[in-house]
Amino acid sequence: MGGREELLFLQAACRACHICVDQAIIPEANPTFEGRWGAPFFLVGQAPGPVERVSRRPFSGRAGKELDRWMVRAGFENAEEFRRLTYIAALMRCFPGRNRAGSGDLKPPPPAIANCAHWLEAELRLTKPKVMILVGQLAIARFLGPGRLEDGVGHRFGDRPVMIPLPHPSGQSRWLNDPANRERLAAALGLLGELRMSLARTTRSRSNSDGGSRQPPRVRRATTTAMRRKA
Ligand code: SF4
Repeated sequence: MGGREELLFLQAACRACHICVDQAIIPEANPTFEGRWGAPFFLVGQAPGPVERVSRRPFSGRAGKELDRWMVRAGFENAEEFRRLTYIAALMRCFPGRNRAGSGDLKPPPPAIANCAHWLEAELRLTKPKVMILVGQLAIARFLGPGRLEDGVGHRFGDRPVMIPLPHPSGQSRWLNDPANRERLAAALGLLGELRMSLARTTRSRSNSDGGSRQPPRVRRATTTAMRRKA
């Protein structure tokens, strides 16, 4: 089986996953992710929210609209281009539920993240992304180790793939109220824009030299092991 077929097989199996329901961690399974073979960007978020629980499309609620705006600021032509070039997954793919006060969503429970990890590992092994976009503290800590958001956002980490941390685009976060943090976000979006441009150039020059093949750029290897922060 080729990589593309293996990915389709994996995606079908993931959509049918309900192990966290079987273990009484959540009442309902609704695995939510989206991505196609050859996408050079790979975004890892925290978990879907109530809107995504219904739509089954990652980042389709208010936070997703903000994320789309950020990506247009970064230089993607529009939200459609960003989503076409980006595999979007999360540490936990099913909605974890609302908190008791009803004021927000629950954080993904560690046993659910552990159950879900093998899906992410397999996707990264198969898709070998050029760039990983780590959205929110949990996703950043998963790949870069624990640390302050201020020390990660605005910097790039690693090489194959390059990792770009971002804050969560949810309106609940007050982190972006600080002008210094807004500058960090602007720097992170600038880095993403540069990477998008350089990937577009690579794709164009390959297209020219291989007679017009539209195969996306590949990397030799992706890593899913935690990396130490450079900041
Ligand atoms: S959170 Fe992940 S491991 Fe748990 S049921 Fe959903 S897809 Fe499966």
